[in-house]
Amino acid sequence: MQSILDIPTEKLTPGMRQYQDAKKENPDCIILLRMGDFYELFYEDAITASRELEITLTARGKGEKRAPLAGVPYHALETYLTRLVKKGYKVAIVEQLEDPKLAKGLVKRGVVRIVTPGTIIESSMLDEKSNNYIASIFPHKDEFNIALADISTGEFITFTTSNILQELVRFSPSEVVIPTSLQVNKELTNHIKQYCYLNTVDDFFFRKEKAQSILEQHFNQNPQHVFGITNLSVCGGLLQYLHDTQRNALQHIKSIKQQSNTTMSLDASTFRNLELIKNLHDNSSKNTLISVIDKTTTAMGARLLKKWIKTPLLQKQEIQQRHEAVKELTQNIILREEIALKQIQDIERLIARINYGNASPKDLLSLRFSLEQLPPITKLSPSSELLTDLTNLPDLTKVTELLQKSIHEEASISIRDGNIIKPTYNNELLQLTELKTNAKKFLQELEEREKTKTGIPLKIGYNRVFGYYIEITKKYSSQVPESYIRKQTTANAERYITEELKVEEEKILNAQEKTKELEFNIFQEILQQLTEVTPEIQTAASKIAALDVLISFSKVASEQNYIQPTLVDENVIQIKNGRHPVVELETRFIANNIMLQDSEMMIITGPNMAGKSTVLRQVALIVLLAQIGSFVPAEECVMGITDRIFTRVGAADDLAAGRSTFMVEMNETASILHNATERSLIILDEIGRGTSTFDGVSIAWSVAEYIYNHLKAKTMFATHYHVMNKLEDKFERITNYNIAVKERSGELIFLRKLIRGGTDQSYGVHVAKLAGLPEEVISRAKEIQGILEQDDDMIRKIKVKKLQEQKSLGEF
Ligand code: ATP
Repeated sequence: MQSILDIPTEKLTPGMRQYQDAKKENPDCIILLRMGDFYELFYEDAITASRELEITLTARGKGEKRAPLAGVPYHALETYLTRLVKKGYKVAIVEQLEDPKLAKGLVKRGVVRIVTPGTIIESSMLDEKSNNYIASIFPHKDEFNIALADISTGEFITFTTSNILQELVRFSPSEVVIPTSLQVNKELTNHIKQYCYLNTVDDFFFRKEKAQSILEQHFNQNPQHVFGITNLSVCGGLLQYLHDTQRNALQHIKSIKQQSNTTMSLDASTFRNLELIKNLHDNSSKNTLISVIDKTTTAMGARLLKKWIKTPLLQKQEIQQRHEAVKELTQNIILREEIALKQIQDIERLIARINYGNASPKDLLSLRFSLEQLPPITKLSPSSELLTDLTNLPDLTKVTELLQKSIHEEASISIRDGNIIKPTYNNELLQLTELKTNAKKFLQELEEREKTKTGIPLKIGYNRVFGYYIEITKKYSSQVPESYIRKQTTANAERYITEELKVEEEKILNAQEKTKELEFNIFQEILQQLTEVTPEIQTAASKIAALDVLISFSKVASEQNYIQPTLVDENVIQIKNGRHPVVELETRFIANNIMLQDSEMMIITGPNMAGKSTVLRQVALIVLLAQIGSFVPAEECVMGITDRIFTRVGAADDLAAGRSTFMVEMNETASILHNATERSLIILDEIGRGTSTFDGVSIAWSVAEYIYNHLKAKTMFATHYHVMNKLEDKFERITNYNIAVKERSGELIFLRKLIRGGTDQSYGVHVAKLAGLPEEVISRAKEIQGILEQDDDMIRKIKVKKLQEQKSLGEF
């Protein structure tokens, strides 16, 4: 297909030339050019759009000038835009920059915005409970600096990471931008492309001095001094991309937060394995931690909760502040009810749209109704420090009053159609409205007068083409006065105008036009005034979000019987009757006690299905819940701060990245061994399962030894290798546990109780029977098991002898 860029300009119509110009400027974009009531696409874009959007492909012009054409109605822009962007296209929107009625010659047009997956602000295209992040990445020594922005809320953060993929999983941005030269790093770019869309920005904008000047220009201050940020390049590059695509001052991005190491870093596999936000089964939120603890009522709260789950805290004091707040809300239900947030809309995104200048009258009404909820909250006087701070909301009375006075409660949807501003708000508007009312009254009088004068039951009506007219049924045609001028004939009536009617019509239409224009201008002024309180509204939004999450924690605590964990300085985890927050909702749950001290390791054995994975995950989840500030599912919980939680759970192929099950398992184990500290919690479920038994046991054993001797992290190790129970005899702080089962007349009964001591029974065949394997297979399996156990014992003796000779494993 011929590209519009290859067509000589003289062969294009003036409108298409504008299209070509926009395409030259943005060759990687699909151009949507506004022409009257349509957005039109030409040449290759028309073909792509007709295919992707299933819209008709036609053509404009004849012969040489014939050009493929497709179009979408202007009012349906959002729908089509969503579809294109979701399919990964970058779309440039070209608008008419002047009123076509006033334009001399060709209407001026220009690109007003480029929409990409990471730069969406349209609410219908966004998930209200998730942030829509765009990230940029810039190498820094052996690590990466990363900047993340959500332009639908105005958030902008930056930090440094040694594990970029971990952060991509954690924040799941919908788009990543990198400096053009970084494209040579194929491993990195391929990885990014697995998660989201990748775009580039010229290296020049990532240069430190340039980046600094981009930031200075945006914030009007030195970013280093004011926000203390050091990651200038990555922030500058991202901001440049945002300005380039948004063509907007982005005034709602008011600050950059440089995150330090005050939050726990969760590696990608732990994040996935613990099923915090998405489950491993189908990536939905079903049976995830968030599905249990999200009782937020605002979109802002829902987004913040996700953020908190992704960033557990490490500072005892900060965590305790959250616990104290949850405690107060749990004990004082009246206070919890008084912090009424239900009616509060997404003011964070509303203020972003206001700054973009594309907020609707309905948006301003939502803002008003939301702001009206705030004063009662400010009047409350909770006792906990955090709640005191959060209920102390900025005073937005003036803004609320402005909105109450100005925006019509029944405002129309479009800002161009009038009927959005209350006439009492503005004198000129009031006068125009009176004029219109008077004129309408005059028309009624005129109708009455003419009826009496002519004796005909005539009616005054209006249509868009002929304006006001007098309608007279054909029956009376002969009686129509001469001064009536006939304008239109319908099936059974004639329509007339008179001089007087024309004059009045002029007045009304004039007033209507003026009203619309005036209302539009007033609306813009109000938007402008609102942008000035952006920081206050953003502060209110973030406080509301935090209140919402804390209330959600307290609701879960009351409903699910969670308790406040006690934080201590010692390196311990003591849980009395702990439960798994998700599994306990599905079944009659048997609670378990866990006691893990400094550098202790629990080796947990037990048959398949006994509940090993459950108990392991439940400890990790309890620690995580405690450190995000929530109460925990247990009767008692005393714990020190854990710096990181590592999990090696289950087996998943990562075939797309060319890694087998075993490779994934070993990669994850390697990462744990390189990063864990004595303050970490390590959860190992079935290490070595993906290989032969002997390889598996050897790796599992040596990993346990390494953790014990070098890392000294608190560790829970579930395994099928019963030989691992021997570690207990060798090392003082390794203890065996098993999950109890009972065998009664050949049936296996799961007791779900974690008890001291090892076990050497697998009951694999029992579980196979439970799973419904045919009886013949089961009985044959039992026979084979008998034979193999003898053989296995023999083989093992030989192998162990060899190893003893090499003196590597002592009494193993
Ligand atoms: P495998 O070795 O086959 O992976 P497992 O020992 O890890 O098994 P889990 O997957 O933890 O077993 O548990 C199996 C099922 O048992 C869970 O899905 C859950 O329904 C139930 N279960 C586990 N622990 C408990 C408990 N404490 N109380 C009640 N039900 C439990």
